[in-house]
Amino acid sequence: MTPGDPAPQANALRPLAEVPVAGAPVPLAELAEWAERYGAVAGITERGERGDFSMGLWSAEPALGVTERWRAFRRWMASRFPAVVMAHQVHSASVRWHRAPEPGWHLGDGYDGHLTAERGLLLVVTVADCIPIYLVERAGPGLGLLHAGWRGTAGGVLEAGVRALCERAGGSPSDLAVHLGVGICGACYEVGPEVAWAVRGEGATGPVHLDLRAELARRAWRLGVEEVTVSRYCTAHDGGRFFSHRGSGGDGGRMVAYLGRPGGA
Ligand SMILES: [Zn+2]
Repeated sequence: MTPGDPAPQANALRPLAEVPVAGAPVPLAELAEWAERYGAVAGITERGERGDFSMGLWSAEPALGVTERWRAFRRWMASRFPAVVMAHQVHSASVRWHRAPEPGWHLGDGYDGHLTAERGLLLVVTVADCIPIYLVERAGPGLGLLHAGWRGTAGGVLEAGVRALCERAGGSPSDLAVHLGVGICGACYEVGPEVAWAVRGEGATGPVHLDLRAELARRAWRLGVEEVTVSRYCTAHDGGRFFSHRGSGGDGGRMVAYLGRPGGA
């Protein structure tokens, strides 16, 4: 090690792949390791064979098609997850703790992270380049799912989610595992210097490539999280499987990322 090298990172950022779920009537991929180790269903919808399986509620798509895809998704999940919760996301650092809700589809307003310790509740965020951040309490019931673009990352949505989960669950960040899911990679995400400044606190004179997941991993380690994994997939590189806001020029579809521990009605 020569002077000026960064300190060796105590924790490695381990790649983990979302694996397509065979036999599901809707296109989705999940983390097999999280199912085995934590009993958690952690996944994301895909474009599907026809490339049009968009779940976007706030995009310019015919409502009937979106509604039909949502109904198919909910039917597939219903026996394990009677309740689904999502929110109109606003690129903030606001998160909410959810107690057991009534069965059904619950839509909140104006926040970007969901936390719970309840079984049978599926947490959902909408993404298409932004990073879905999955949090699980490794030996306890706590779960969290956050939506982080550059604004949420800079604003501290990861920190807010980890703190709120630890407060509620009574543990520490070292009790958690964090997965940084399918999202845009650094090579595909060029941003202006003002964005780099907001996220990293470092100046730049021109456009820079911003790796949001690397930034989020640094933030997770700084909080004391030891187990951090990152998706192998980039929404733009892997545009055949996933929707990319950037890759489509802004008018593409949306995926939903989801997380929960099953518990039937
Ligand atoms: Zn990429």
